[in-house]
Amino acid sequence: MKILIVTPEATPYVKTGGLADVTGALLKEYVRMNHQPSLMLPLYRQIGEHFTITDTGHRVNIPVGNRRTEGRILSHGPYAYFLECDEFFDRSDLYGTPDGDYPDNAARFAFFCRAALEACIALRLEPDAIHCNDWQTGLLPLYMRTLYHNESFSNTAALMAIHNLGYQGLFEVSHLPLTGLPEAWFNPEGIEFYGKINYLKAGLVASDMIVTVSKAYAKEILTPEYGYGLDGFLRKRASVVRGIPNGIDTDEWNPSRDPFIPATYSATDVSGKTICKDELLKECALSTPDRNYPLLSFIGRLSAQKGLDIFIEAADDIIASGVNVIILGKGDEEIQNDVLRLARKYRRQIFVKIGYDEQFAHRVYAGSDFFIMPSRYEPCGLGQLIAMRYGTVPVARRTGGLRDTISDYQPLRVSGTGFLFDDYRASSLKDCLGRALCVYMDRRRWSNLVSNAMAQDFSWERSAKEYIALYEDAIKRKRGQ
Ligand code: ADP
Repeated sequence: MKILIVTPEATPYVKTGGLADVTGALLKEYVRMNHQPSLMLPLYRQIGEHFTITDTGHRVNIPVGNRRTEGRILSHGPYAYFLECDEFFDRSDLYGTPDGDYPDNAARFAFFCRAALEACIALRLEPDAIHCNDWQTGLLPLYMRTLYHNESFSNTAALMAIHNLGYQGLFEVSHLPLTGLPEAWFNPEGIEFYGKINYLKAGLVASDMIVTVSKAYAKEILTPEYGYGLDGFLRKRASVVRGIPNGIDTDEWNPSRDPFIPATYSATDVSGKTICKDELLKECALSTPDRNYPLLSFIGRLSAQKGLDIFIEAADDIIASGVNVIILGKGDEEIQNDVLRLARKYRRQIFVKIGYDEQFAHRVYAGSDFFIMPSRYEPCGLGQLIAMRYGTVPVARRTGGLRDTISDYQPLRVSGTGFLFDDYRASSLKDCLGRALCVYMDRRRWSNLVSNAMAQDFSWERSAKEYIALYEDAIKRKRGQ
């Protein structure tokens, strides 16, 4: 099958979150399965700095509002294409700076979606399915139905993937001319959302199938609690909404071969994990009377979604119970300041690193005992999957993908892979961690739990097959079979 993945991020090229892991891993998996995949991304500055990109010789010329913007189609290797347009993408960040979103995001991603379709035509990719990812690609399925109605996409199905419904790409109606879309689409059945233009909704309206990244989240987004105002609309399309859980790249995340950790280990011999913990404690200058004191870590975006506020509220008690903590992340300034304040207060017990650091993340996953994810909501979550693979036991809120992928420890049956709590409250997190610490202190139960977690299979193979089945379904719908 010919599959085109259009995405604002993909590993190894550029990543700010889990979406990049998903698209990068799917591409690899499709190659392995002998499909014919391609990937299309904007050429952000970071990509040009780290990869040798080749000119395909093709150009695009896209109307953006009342002017035309030129772009070049570049490539890397046999599968990846990049749309170069320095005016839009040669910037320090992807979507905005810590001061806020770039003010021309509506134009940048309208350009990207149209340019992706133009590139598809110029390169004669003729995909059976185009897999769009998040709001940045939301206009593309609608362009296929409108401006590109007469082009060569009559056999091509469009799939809209929601990696996080909290980000929808909302813009003032004054931006409508930038998109080139007929005004008739600006209504509640189309791309209007409470008086604004909603890019993600454009994709949800016009795609043949809608997919999100866990079965639980696929149900949750149909409810007002998690639907971010789109639940009513999504309920109308519920028959085409599916959930496919994310996997992880088990080559990259493999404690028995990881080049970034001080000692490798496996489920059958976890002794190397102790060395990883010792080294990590030293690296972060955390003091602990002995290594048996538990080490709890958090890696992720510092955004309200990730639930750090209840962790911060519970921090005094958590530290008092003898736990050391490492936090790696970047994001909202307020949360950054809050965790840095905690690190100053508990200099020898809490280490905070603000920034994005892939290699340090490997060392943290390997050297920690617990991984904490108190998320308000979590479409799938990758952190808990990586943590389990590294024998680091997740302590998480029972929501979305966390609910699907972690099974709560049952002391009587000695089964489970982590610890879950329900209420979004500091006290529930503390209770849950209390339960976890009891098991941690019982070495036999603990090592059982660690082996259970490490034995889970989160490889992409199964999910990639589910995606192919989904494309087949979408193609049938599109072709009216
Ligand atoms: P989301 O997509 O909501 O950001 P996920 O849990 O799905 O969250 O994916 C986050 C991914 O990004 C994980 O692979 C995690 O290890 C990685 N990550 C997040 N923040 C950082 C950071 N500051 N440094 C290194 N890796 C990070």
